[in-house]
Amino acid sequence: MNSESSSAILRLRMVNRDLADVGIVDERILNAFMKIPREDFVPPRINLVNAYGNHPLPIGLGQTVSQPYIVAFMLQMLECEPGNSVLEIGTGSGYQTAILAAMGMKVVTIELLPDLAVNARKAVLAILPGADIRFIVADGYNGWTPAAPYDCIIVSAAPARMPDGLEDQLNPLGGRLVIPLGDWSQRLISITRNGDDLVMRESLPVRFVPLVKPRRE
Ligand code: SAH
Repeated sequence: MNSESSSAILRLRMVNRDLADVGIVDERILNAFMKIPREDFVPPRINLVNAYGNHPLPIGLGQTVSQPYIVAFMLQMLECEPGNSVLEIGTGSGYQTAILAAMGMKVVTIELLPDLAVNARKAVLAILPGADIRFIVADGYNGWTPAAPYDCIIVSAAPARMPDGLEDQLNPLGGRLVIPLGDWSQRLISITRNGDDLVMRESLPVRFVPLVKPRRE
């Protein structure tokens, strides 16, 4: 069996066992996970079987790509539609960026660490050359106002407290934010905006790397 077909088999097994069988029902999410080879977003020393394990993996510089279930769960909480604009804070490996683009979103993704951003851009565009994605290298602690408002904002690292200004960057007609919140003990939170009205919902306990708050000069 060549590695391309074993990759597709492992992907199908991951989608069935780690996503569909445990409550990920959105077909667009499942199809996107089928399309994106996870091994292209982790260091080459990680073997194919390990790349498809349902656990986080190191991506260098002390950062990790989340386990597939958590990525899918957050996307399901986000309830984004194809054509929606999405801000992703924490590009990291670019894996989730690729999943969002494969679902037909217009993505703006922001990453603090230039080396990760460069690799992520390469990896994503190799698979999805025509994707509608803007890669920004900057501090995204308080979002990215130049391209706001967004239909969806997804944060892939955890701040101790809710950063200022993120809700203001949501589309006032039902824009939604999904973010892991907390220091050591973290929870996934979603916030839905309707005008000035914000509805917050708490979900799973999680463990993310910290959302770094760079010192402002
Ligand atoms: N979604 C990513 C997960 C990456 S881990 C993936 O699929 O691989 C979280 C990322 O957030 C790290 O790459 C880290 O460098 C980045 N990050 C942390 N604080 C940040 C900040 N203030 N602005 C932008 N990116 C940040």
